[in-house]
Amino acid sequence: MDTAQPQYDVIDQVEKGVLIDGKWRPGAGGATFPVENPATGEHLCEVADATLKDASAALDAASAAQPGWAAVPPRRRGEILRRAHDLLLERIEEFALLITLEMGKSLAESRAEVHYGANYLRWFAEEAVRIDGTWKVSEDGTARVLVTRQPVGPCLLITPWNAPLAMPARKIGPAVAAGCTMVVKPAQQTPLTTAALAGVLIEAGLPSGVLNIVPTSHAAPVTEPLIRDGRLRKLSFTGSTPVGRLLLAQAAETVLRTSMELGGNAPFIVCEDADLDAAVEGAMTAKLRNVGEACIAANRLYAHADVAEEFTRRLVARMSRLTLGAGTDPATDLGPLIDDRQRRRLADLVDETVAAGAQVRAGARMPEGRGYFYPPTVLTDIPTGARITREEIFGPVAAVQTFSTEEEVLRAANDTEFGLVSYLYTRDLNRALRMSERLESGMVGLNRGYVSDPSAPFGGMKQSGVGREGGNTGIDEYLEQKYVAIDMAPSSVSAVS
Ligand code: NAD
Repeated sequence: MDTAQPQYDVIDQVEKGVLIDGKWRPGAGGATFPVENPATGEHLCEVADATLKDASAALDAASAAQPGWAAVPPRRRGEILRRAHDLLLERIEEFALLITLEMGKSLAESRAEVHYGANYLRWFAEEAVRIDGTWKVSEDGTARVLVTRQPVGPCLLITPWNAPLAMPARKIGPAVAAGCTMVVKPAQQTPLTTAALAGVLIEAGLPSGVLNIVPTSHAAPVTEPLIRDGRLRKLSFTGSTPVGRLLLAQAAETVLRTSMELGGNAPFIVCEDADLDAAVEGAMTAKLRNVGEACIAANRLYAHADVAEEFTRRLVARMSRLTLGAGTDPATDLGPLIDDRQRRRLADLVDETVAAGAQVRAGARMPEGRGYFYPPTVLTDIPTGARITREEIFGPVAAVQTFSTEEEVLRAANDTEFGLVSYLYTRDLNRALRMSERLESGMVGLNRGYVSDPSAPFGGMKQSGVGREGGNTGIDEYLEQKYVAIDMAPSSVSAVS
């Protein structure tokens, strides 16, 4: 990889401390942890390793700032988000480079993430001024029912590494719009982009104490006491289902409000009447976006027996043409995986599937040299019940299975504890609607390999999560309804009987 100076400028400019009450400072314990470039394994920088003392100070700041922040007019809150959106786009190249350096994906994908994250800020800038309530006459006419919505209060936002800008933006945006203060715990692998995002929000006018950030290499001891602290009013988490379960159990103790965006195991169904060009294009997007490291990645590809060979052949041709390399190289289509642990996990998963009888149609051989690369891989003849069909693959590996009937594929698609997204390719409108209704997932991509959209409710059913981010209801996750019962003296006008 080219390690020329400009790549380091962007790292040098980012704050590397903890952010508490508007000030960046070293962690209370004085320790740091390393951030590395997954394309080379090289050390990029050290970041303050927050301790519980820092997290408590962050919650102190968030709690102290909450009443004043809630009193800031909605228009002002919206303007801060809108300004931050504009600043992100003005600095898209710096942000894209930062994402690529610490997370690995290609610069083109990182630019797309900056747009996606910025669009959440813009969406919630517009939602801030539309928080409404209702007023009605009680059922028996003796009272008036006033319903208002107010900020839930200080939030803890825990985010993953796979979209280090968009995931925090999808939480910070609605929290700011609703009038909540927050403590953000970014993923250990990617703390830099979150710090840079905080810098932009502060520059856009976010007051001290509203946004506090605690990067750490030991998440549980730092976040668990916060989750059990009665001053915290909301936990929003994006990450794996096992960690989500653990956090839900912790949150139960204080009956904390939670939003959970968890893992997925998306079926990608290609019916016999599908437009195969569109289906292959959609599979490339749904499988390879973010180097396959996405909760909404197509995990199980089901092609109807009549078209399976043709679909697979075209998919293999497309995937084999991709260039694997450092995300900073403009010629790169596919960057490295996040770290060696993820790469070994993926290689073991593929090797196990092949040993059980799957056929390798492309890839499956780990390249030599530095960086955590894994080639685009296509497997067919997947053994029934194989682990690759039950777990998140989280990498550029397509496992193609075949089916014969609609009933059979629906049963297989729904046979998972996950329920985040499904993809369906068919030209038959009736079948499209019928199958969409029966797919047990919070989102369905219909003849489309991409569902992420700030104007849509993003989230899952079953063990893929609780709550929705974005869309018309996204801000509700950060608001409490309050009902005021207003006594009414009987009217001097008598009711007709
Ligand atoms: P992860 O669950 O390991 O970590 C997510 C975050 O939780 C990180 O910040 C991590 O430091 C923190 N964490 C880990 N253990 C913790 C604990 N015991 N207490 C408190 N915090 C803890 O997930 P990951 O590997 O960072 O991200 C990949 C996962 O995220 C995948 O399962 C993916 O499907 C999921 N994801 C879901 C969505 C969605 O919207 N549904 C979006 C992106 C990623």
